[in-house]
Amino acid sequence: MRLDVPTLFLMTVAVTFMVGALFLLSWSQTRRERALAIWGIAHLAGSVASCMLGLRGAIPDPVSIGLGNAVMIGAYGLIWSGVRAFEGRRPLLGWALAGSVVWLGACLAPAFYASLPARIIVASIIAGSYCALGAWTVWRGRGEPLVSRYPALILLGTYAVIYWVRIPLAAFIPPPAFAPGSDSPWFAILCFVGTLYSIAIAFVLMALTKERAEREQRLAAETDALTGIASRRAFVARAEACLAIRPAALLLLDLDHFKAINDRYGHSVGDAVLTAFCHAASPMLPRSAVFGRLGGEEFACLLPETGPVLAARFAESVRDSVGRIAHPDYPDLRVGVSIGIAAAGAGGALDDLLRRADGALYGAKHSGRDQVMVDETPIPEAAVVLAA
Ligand code: GH3
Ligand code: MG
Ligand code: MG
Repeated sequence: MRLDVPTLFLMTVAVTFMVGALFLLSWSQTRRERALAIWGIAHLAGSVASCMLGLRGAIPDPVSIGLGNAVMIGAYGLIWSGVRAFEGRRPLLGWALAGSVVWLGACLAPAFYASLPARIIVASIIAGSYCALGAWTVWRGRGEPLVSRYPALILLGTYAVIYWVRIPLAAFIPPPAFAPGSDSPWFAILCFVGTLYSIAIAFVLMALTKERAEREQRLAAETDALTGIASRRAFVARAEACLAIRPAALLLLDLDHFKAINDRYGHSVGDAVLTAFCHAASPMLPRSAVFGRLGGEEFACLLPETGPVLAARFAESVRDSVGRIAHPDYPDLRVGVSIGIAAAGAGGALDDLLRRADGALYGAKHSGRDQVMVDETPIPEAAVVLAA
């Protein structure tokens, strides 16, 4: 099979342009993600640059070689800038375009402009560095677990290596002069790889944006907006999964006279108390605990591999910590919590556990509130042993 260079150039120009337009279209729908706009402009610039490079011979050389490469280098700079914006960093557009300025400045030197190896070396250093910076920025953002991060890292990293490998090659093996009409398989391969890269990088960058949006939606559904702990839905899902394979104790926690707190100090103080309750309770619970807000001023906590005696000890420390909640503007504000506990062996039903813990909570409320009560239903032997 023979790869025709002009046709491939045309393909590169068209595909890169289309990808750029799609990025901008996507950005126009979700303006919040500025990276999409920057990547869109980067691809449009890449398309213009490919056009200028492909028209070598048909247009003046300074436009094709000087300007074409400057725009191409700028496109790589913008890809890096977009990655920075995606990671919540400043896009540093000045630095993204500095490479093009350096290139144009170098082209003004006749000796440099006349030397093909020198031009390849400088262009490869700058473009490769932008790709490497892009890969580094993606790597630095790995705290946000997105699977598409890794193909993006590999693509940007590989492209940096490809550019950098050209540096010693250009220095030691004289490269052939470029001619768009040439039959050299090297130009065809370069063009082909460039087009594939353009599509692949666009695909992973889009995937990154989509994955982030999905993750944010999932986290929002799983998190209680006020307190930041698990929502009822997330709590039930996690607790059921845990209880299916491990024995556990359930704490059902309900703030005492919360309506009176709202009535006396206002709803916003009530909200602050709910958040303070979570801050006071969370450090008292083991790392394996599944803690969630069931609704209103009612919370639940599943303690895996914990029997009722140990669970009661955790509950007492939560109660104690909650009792120390204070509001600087309302020194007389007191917060109490009643806690009902029930335990079950592995494979127990969460509904049944919730019902029994609710019974114990009812008992705690009726015995004067601000106390812990344990459901006395006998539980499987495994959980009793753990409690000892
Ligand atoms: P008890 O000691 O028997 O539990 O009495 P209580 O007042 O705590 O319970 P009750 O069920 O009578 O009142 C709960 C109150 O919680 C009523 C509701 O307005 C309030 N509430 C529910 N969700 C929120 C919220 O997100 N923020 C605030 N500030 N109040 C809430
Ligand atoms: Mg209450
Ligand atoms: Mg309640």
